[in-house]
Amino acid sequence: MCKGVNINWNNLGFGYIKTDFRYISYWKDGKWDEGNLITDNMITISEASTALHYGQQCFEGLKAYRTKNGGIQLFRPYENAKRMNRSANRLLMPEIPKEKFVDAVRQVVRANEGYVPPYGTGGTLYIRPLLIGVGDNIGVGPASEYLFCVFCLPVGPYFKGGMVPVNFIVAEYDRAAPCGTGAAKVGGNYAASLYPYHLAKKGGFADCVYLDPQTHTKIEEVGSANFFGITKKNEFVTPKSPSILPSITKYSLLYLAQEYLNLRATQRDVLIDNLDEFKEAGACGTAAVITPIGGIHYKGKLHIFHSDTAVGPVTTELYNTLCGIQFGDIQAPDGWIIEI
Ligand SMILES: *Cc1c(COP(=O)(O)O)cnc(C)c1O
Repeated sequence: MCKGVNINWNNLGFGYIKTDFRYISYWKDGKWDEGNLITDNMITISEASTALHYGQQCFEGLKAYRTKNGGIQLFRPYENAKRMNRSANRLLMPEIPKEKFVDAVRQVVRANEGYVPPYGTGGTLYIRPLLIGVGDNIGVGPASEYLFCVFCLPVGPYFKGGMVPVNFIVAEYDRAAPCGTGAAKVGGNYAASLYPYHLAKKGGFADCVYLDPQTHTKIEEVGSANFFGITKKNEFVTPKSPSILPSITKYSLLYLAQEYLNLRATQRDVLIDNLDEFKEAGACGTAAVITPIGGIHYKGKLHIFHSDTAVGPVTTELYNTLCGIQFGDIQAPDGWIIEI
């Protein structure tokens, strides 16, 4: 369907690029329509849509990878489908059948196949599903209609020329409340994070570290990624809390740490006053896979983990293992890879 495209694959960043096709489906009168691919990247919705006023919307993020033999594959898309439905439930939006979600993703990737970066460039096709409340509403309540859309764009590797550690600062703000929407992938959490992010950037940091909203003693998130640390006893540790966004990358690393790297892997509290227990630390998520944490600034001091210029050996091995699986060079655990 899609012709060859003229893109300098080695120069790709993370900016928006309009690709040829996107999928769109409407929910009305209690059911989803069939859905179809369209070329127009503009969405026209009622001015009274709940997504615009009351933040009734959620989204997902996943990638398609070009393999060495020229194939294209998805990494654990059913996990994204399940998570989108958990987010939808939290905001009283209709679920999207898992097969419909994955089928929409497949259709969009196939239709935009020419935009999937070649193997070896480190680039991928980033896929953004979103679900928004639309229709004529103005009172506070769930929308009468919903729109599910999936679009995609080619993105470059987060770190051109290899991973580099970056520094973070502990935020004075919370991104989520104890029983709020922290575990749902909703735009409202991001709106709340824009100001602390702005302050962190202004202070010369990559982003902020959010502590648990109840006690401000435990690490929850690092920017819009999950935290992990490697203890001096060679344990892979990641925080456990109901207000953390359950990162699919994080759960994948927990499994790989244990099964592929023979580390003990644990989810438990990570105290901001006990960073000394870690010899390495990182942030993980689909966009960057792993962002090595050089240091964390807290109460006037920068705590450095492995080094603020070099990436630790365990972090490097985790990164190479996960990327190897995503690009099809390393045998994946059962069910993790879906070929297009
Ligand atoms: C999406 C997201 C992540 C990362 O999740 P992945 O499934 O690994 O991409 C982490 N934290 C927040 C707040 C997120 O929105």
